[in-house]
Amino acid sequence: MIDTHCHLNFKAFMNGVNEVIDTAKRAGVTKFVVPGTDISTSELAVELAGQYPCVHAAVGIHPHHIYQYHHAKGKEADYGSLLDNDLAFISKMVDDRRVVAVGEVGMDRYYYRDTKYSTYQIDPGFIDLQVSALARQIRLAVEYRKALILHNRLAAADLLEVLGKEWEPELEGRTVFHCAEPEERLLEFARKNKVFIGVDGDLTWSKRKQRFIREVPLSMLVLETDAPFLTPEPVRFEKQFPNEPKNITLVREFVSKLKETDVNLIEKTTTENAQRLFGI
Ligand SMILES: [Zn+2]
Ligand SMILES: [Zn+2]
Repeated sequence: MIDTHCHLNFKAFMNGVNEVIDTAKRAGVTKFVVPGTDISTSELAVELAGQYPCVHAAVGIHPHHIYQYHHAKGKEADYGSLLDNDLAFISKMVDDRRVVAVGEVGMDRYYYRDTKYSTYQIDPGFIDLQVSALARQIRLAVEYRKALILHNRLAAADLLEVLGKEWEPELEGRTVFHCAEPEERLLEFARKNKVFIGVDGDLTWSKRKQRFIREVPLSMLVLETDAPFLTPEPVRFEKQFPNEPKNITLVREFVSKLKETDVNLIEKTTTENAQRLFGI
């Protein structure tokens, strides 16, 4: 199995990433795709990929972290160049053979209470900056022929609008709606443009997700954990945080039950999908 989205580069795994990888390997996970969310976690993802051959990196600036550039606006005259510099740095990193994708990038209208940005709010200027950062990062994926990991939270309309303008045929079969929200319009775009659908542990408790995933053909599905988040049931009842890549087996089993399909076929097909998506 391939965990197509796990943040082994996050603080939660700082002291013991080795053991987390080993435990997951014993559970049948052979490869890990580790996406960045800002400059430092992107650098760390590349570093981990250098250290562990089973780890593949993605680099990018997550829409939530675009807030730092929006916030600097008005305070620092050269706020625009902060984002330019960071995107230039991302484009340098993306051209590394250890990097298989640009990500995670996307659109996010969720109001995070627990954030390091004390003045955090979703205002139109912030959304505009998310749009332009996303567009520029999509172009990076096309230019460097890498896969694209798309994040969306409560912003499907914005995401689809950007994709409407920036989509290129080269992205077909190389893009994933990671932790896809159960939205018909996303599935419609995914079907039309050969975008994969990432499914996580929240499938085990979200009825809406269950209805949605039942509709998604197996040929479009990839498994992910989004560790350290989204711990699946029943592990969740004992310890919610941090989720680990080993728990991807619970996602696999749940998909198998939901789709009334043999668990080995679920494993085989989603692994082949992930291999094609990332070229690994
Ligand atoms: Zn995400
Ligand atoms: Zn993530």
